[in-house]
Amino acid sequence: MNEIIISVKDLKKNYGEFEAVKGISFDVRRGEIFGLLGPNGAGKSTTLEIIETLRQKTSGEVIVNGFNLDDSPNEIKKIIGVQLQTSGYYPSLNLTELIHLFAGLYNEIIDPLTLLDSVNLRDKAKAKYKELSGGQKQRFSIATTLINKPKIIFLDEPTTGLDPQARRNLWELIKNIRDAGTTVIITTHYMDEAEVLCDRVAIIDSGKIIALNSPDKLIDELVDTGFERPKEVKKANLEDVFINLTGHVLRED
Ligand code: ADP
Ligand code: MG
Repeated sequence: MNEIIISVKDLKKNYGEFEAVKGISFDVRRGEIFGLLGPNGAGKSTTLEIIETLRQKTSGEVIVNGFNLDDSPNEIKKIIGVQLQTSGYYPSLNLTELIHLFAGLYNEIIDPLTLLDSVNLRDKAKAKYKELSGGQKQRFSIATTLINKPKIIFLDEPTTGLDPQARRNLWELIKNIRDAGTTVIITTHYMDEAEVLCDRVAIIDSGKIIALNSPDKLIDELVDTGFERPKEVKKANLEDVFINLTGHVLRED
């Protein structure tokens, strides 16, 4: 669990005069769910896309599974799974056809139904992407990251805009992917999500990492400073009420 699969050192990215990423360093361990947390514009997607080989960095060093991004971007591409832009989901094709298409691009032979099963979408095999609910779209998108049997997958805000049931369902799916041995890097600005899902998180703000640890340790560190919540916290919150009333069952299917 302590072996490093991604090493980022002093990574910088400028867009013209603007410094979007200001020299960040972090390691991701093999087999963990690593979260990049931060407000909009913090530089999360920029960082992810540089590691994914989709964006040029300004400076710094990125090593993925022993491959240096500067020398071996194609080796990196082979071992990572990236969510495609939804514009790649040709509207006239159904999910089975889309999986065949993507598998062909990766030169992989894959059984679409097995893959759809793994994200609980077997009964949508003949449906078109645009006919799916928000949660189903995200599950399909995550399935497509697994087509090339990657060592690492990158998920950029996979639960934004989903209802509570669909979010919880996606958390289970992402944990299952981690438990099957795939390293996961995820961005989110939902702290409850990071707390239950991520093994370790980096908090990034205005292009700088301002904290990096497990959620548990970060909370302990804050408590050790004498921090206390302003008032006694109730034993449940409104989301608990909502889930308790409406159940965990997905409504979209
Ligand atoms: P996040 O994903 O954390 O919301 P981004 O990495 O998308 O942040 O963006 C970081 C900053 O860089 C933002 O201020 C954004 O406006 C800027 N930015 C992102 N992409 C570009 C681009 N292609 N050209 C110029 N500025 C960009
Ligand atoms: Mg982003």
